[in-house]
Amino acid sequence: MSHVVIAIESGDSRYTVGVFVNEAMTSEEILRQYFGYEQFRGFQKEVIETVASGRDALVLMPTGGGKSLCYQIPALMREGVGVVVSPLIALMKDQVQMLCDTGIPAATLNSSMDFEEISRVQSQLLAGQIKLLYVAPERLLNPKTLALLHRLKISLFAVDEAHCISIWGHDFRPEYQGLGILKDSFPDVPRVALTATADEQTRAEIAERLLRNPQRFITSFDRPNIRYRMYEKGKGYWDSIVHFIRGEHLKESGIVYCATRKKTEALAAHLSAAGIDTLIYHAGLSPQQRDCNQEAFYDRPCVMVATVAFGMGIDKPDVRFIIHADMPKSIENYFQETGRAGRDGKPAEAVLYYGLEDLIQQRYFIEQSDADEVYKRVSLHKLESMMGLTESVTCRRVQLLAYFGEKSSPCGNCDNCENPPKSRDVTVDAQKLLSCIYRCSKTNGMGFGASHVINVLRGQATDKIFEKRHDELPTFGIGKEHTMKYWRKILRQLISRHYINLNSQKYNVLSVSERAKDLLHGKEKIFVRVEGAKRLASRKVLEHEDLDDAEQELFRQLRSWRKSEAKERGIASYNVFPDETLMLIAKRKPLKPSQMRGISGIGEKRIAHYGEAVCRVVSQWRLSMKEREFL
Ligand code: ADP
Ligand code: ZN
Repeated sequence: MSHVVIAIESGDSRYTVGVFVNEAMTSEEILRQYFGYEQFRGFQKEVIETVASGRDALVLMPTGGGKSLCYQIPALMREGVGVVVSPLIALMKDQVQMLCDTGIPAATLNSSMDFEEISRVQSQLLAGQIKLLYVAPERLLNPKTLALLHRLKISLFAVDEAHCISIWGHDFRPEYQGLGILKDSFPDVPRVALTATADEQTRAEIAERLLRNPQRFITSFDRPNIRYRMYEKGKGYWDSIVHFIRGEHLKESGIVYCATRKKTEALAAHLSAAGIDTLIYHAGLSPQQRDCNQEAFYDRPCVMVATVAFGMGIDKPDVRFIIHADMPKSIENYFQETGRAGRDGKPAEAVLYYGLEDLIQQRYFIEQSDADEVYKRVSLHKLESMMGLTESVTCRRVQLLAYFGEKSSPCGNCDNCENPPKSRDVTVDAQKLLSCIYRCSKTNGMGFGASHVINVLRGQATDKIFEKRHDELPTFGIGKEHTMKYWRKILRQLISRHYINLNSQKYNVLSVSERAKDLLHGKEKIFVRVEGAKRLASRKVLEHEDLDDAEQELFRQLRSWRKSEAKERGIASYNVFPDETLMLIAKRKPLKPSQMRGISGIGEKRIAHYGEAVCRVVSQWRLSMKEREFL
């Protein structure tokens, strides 16, 4: 065993960082001695052996899977310094600190260091005193750094967050592109590229740009304990969210993602009004408020309503549900966000709501951004894949995993498996809609938005229709038999498949695309998903047996109140509240009328009518229970 004693200067104190051991130690010994872990996880050992033997590797592992050891340990097993490329300075500093604490000499070179600090690290490198060097990509590509590296013995290059090299990745960083030169400038140094998210295309790009004949290590992305469900947005979907949380997940932690700050605020207020403990997080809050809310989320079971600003580094193990109140912009995002549920391995829920407005809004975000054309095209493509997932009729998990290049079979733990939906041929309706868009646009040469076109189709008597004389069009009223919601669904399909263009520069007006010809001429068909699953709100209908003894008693008291109420008003009991609703009330036990919001079958009107009386029954029941020491 060869022991080398290394000293490192830190500030003004000079201390010995430890006895440093190289090649002679096995990877297991290093794992135990330096990192204090008993066993490798997943593919760690295989990756380490591959890189230690001098071969390139591509590592795909979910966040928290333990990517760091995959390059830290081989760097210790090989001669020289391991160079780690990472985009985040804060994370680099943490890692360096952690390594130094463990007795492994590590350092970073970054833009926040002054000249003196940099020269100190340089001389330590030249003296062979550093085993791991962390650098940002732009720093690495700086000619001075490259010249320095050429004077050193390098054990390996590790490129973390390697998906940043790909324009297909969701986090493209131009400075990553230059890393391709490592392959030619240091042909004998093994390279390992690591990422937590990369679809097939991104993976191919990483391998091609950075690696030579790499061994691939792909950890399964499956999260079997997460149940995936996706619903079309309806008028009452905010109440469905309330119902979902109050009915099944009260006193548990969850995250509700919204597309905008404004919606975050509004939905949070709605949930609070229904008696749910809510917190808010978005980029419009002050850093102090954000920190404070994030801490509170760790401290107690509650619901975080947030934009995607909430996420990086969240690893609370017992998040029981993730709700997307708006559709994410890509499957990668969806996967990352839902992946924050159920880290403890216990059952968790991912519920997503989607609608035409999501498609319109996300497209608007993309087209208004100042990114270049290629990036926009890629983003649109990703958005369509996401939309495609929501509209699909087969197992959600199979598709999700297939997107990341993994084959699997139907899971039995998603809405499409539990309640297989059907697909229906809607070609004729699609033709009606296309022709209506076409007729309308001919009247002003530019086109009209979705609501107007659908109003024309449904023969509605709106001012705008009379003003434009669209009631005289041959397509006026030819789609009467269907609802607005139905037409929006068809429209969504047609937009995401490019039969209809949506002009986000000009009030989202619609126009018929070149591609629509075949559909209009009946050479192509179009199908849509017909909900097999019941709506979430009515999904979990309570059974009598679902009530415990005390709740059964409350249910009986509510029924007797209902009887006298019905008699007094001269109406049927059922019309006051059906049994099912009384059971839900007995579960929730509201003490204020506002706490009745979100119970299925109870609208504002009924709360105004019966709210006070119901709450009186509940408080009397509470008192009687206390006396009997039930509570
Ligand atoms: P990633 O970079 O993949 O998100 P990290 O490398 O930061 O993950 O590791 C996540 C956590 O798991 C860290 O706290 C790390 O110390 C721990 N860890 C990694 N490998 C093991 C192992 N074999 N046994 C126990 N804990 C491990
Ligand atoms: Zn499934």
